[in-house]
Amino acid sequence: MKFATKAIHAGYEPDPATGAVMPPIFQTSTYAQKSPGAHTGYEYSRMQNPTRDVLQAALAGLENGKAAFCYSSGMAAVDAVLKLLRPGDEVIASLDLYGGTFRMMKQIFEPYGVGFHFVDLKNAGAFERSIGPNTRLVWMETPSNPLLRITDIELISSLARKNGLVSVVDSTFASPFLCNPLDLGADVVMHSVTKYLGGHSDVIMGALVVNDEDLAAQFLFQQKATGAVPGPQDCFLVLRGLKTLHLRMKQHCENALQVARWLENHANVARVYYPGLASHPEHELASRQMRDFGGMVSFDLAGEKASDAIAAMERLRLVTVGESLGGVESLCAYPPKMSHASYSKEERGKMGIKDTLIRLSVGVEDIDDIIDDLSQAIG
Ligand SMILES: *Cc1c(COP(=O)(O)O)cnc(C)c1O
Repeated sequence: MKFATKAIHAGYEPDPATGAVMPPIFQTSTYAQKSPGAHTGYEYSRMQNPTRDVLQAALAGLENGKAAFCYSSGMAAVDAVLKLLRPGDEVIASLDLYGGTFRMMKQIFEPYGVGFHFVDLKNAGAFERSIGPNTRLVWMETPSNPLLRITDIELISSLARKNGLVSVVDSTFASPFLCNPLDLGADVVMHSVTKYLGGHSDVIMGALVVNDEDLAAQFLFQQKATGAVPGPQDCFLVLRGLKTLHLRMKQHCENALQVARWLENHANVARVYYPGLASHPEHELASRQMRDFGGMVSFDLAGEKASDAIAAMERLRLVTVGESLGGVESLCAYPPKMSHASYSKEERGKMGIKDTLIRLSVGVEDIDDIIDDLSQAIG
């Protein structure tokens, strides 16, 4: 099946009892048993819920995976992956990471005795040199937040496999419409479903998708044992969002490319970060690895002053200043004070995040209105 067909049909056939074309919201915590232990396969909704099952099957279908697991947030999905590790184990993670992932690694798992090394994964040699006897896992995020750097998933996953490491890709910015990391050899793909998959800024959710049966068994056990599961109402909302994923993503990509080109020609803009621009250092890799370039665009305002970036954002009228991304509406964020406030200024400097950096989640409004608003704000 092609992507657009899968977005609409994967994981669900009309209900045989009623013909309902959307799955019911099974708002139930428990299920009747004929005799103790004799159940239908559904015991308790922390373990199984039919609405969640449909969503998990749909996500597995969209990522070409065998099994998907949904969580109550993207961070709960990250947590599930890191709980594969034991004290003494080590992780290599990309330098440019979502702030919440970095915070969980440093402030939750490091105190439990897991070691983390942050490496520029563009440099395959540096990656291989940083693999030690206790390294268990490599964490990629591509395109990365907020600088839209691209990691070569196929190369890093194959090196990981050769060295016996589990390879994980946070593919939130790409969504399955643009990239399928499992097809490129990754072991686990992680999504903040909150973003493009949900697509309407009305749900917090995370997901993991895998092909490997052993990993699937571990995530299934953990879902039951730790319980960070989403409710059926949220699963239903995401199922509705998925049906237009391909339509939304096409428009996000088209609008973002126009915004990126417009910014690149603007006198008050020092630098634009968008993998679809020929000026992006990994443009060629992005063209190979992704079907299009996504809806996220970051840029540095000219000058050095944080106050100029903040003032420009305060002037926005249509584009909303706020956390998050991937919804139908355009959003604008200031990483140093928002998504990347958990990094020190020095750490941000090492990553290349300047005080003049603005991050846009380009929505699917009319492109003329988006550019008019940016124009009056940036000057
Ligand atoms: C938002 C986000 C997360 C965290 O997901 P939540 O749903 O907010 O918990 C992780 N990674 C990336 C790249 C994100 O954008």
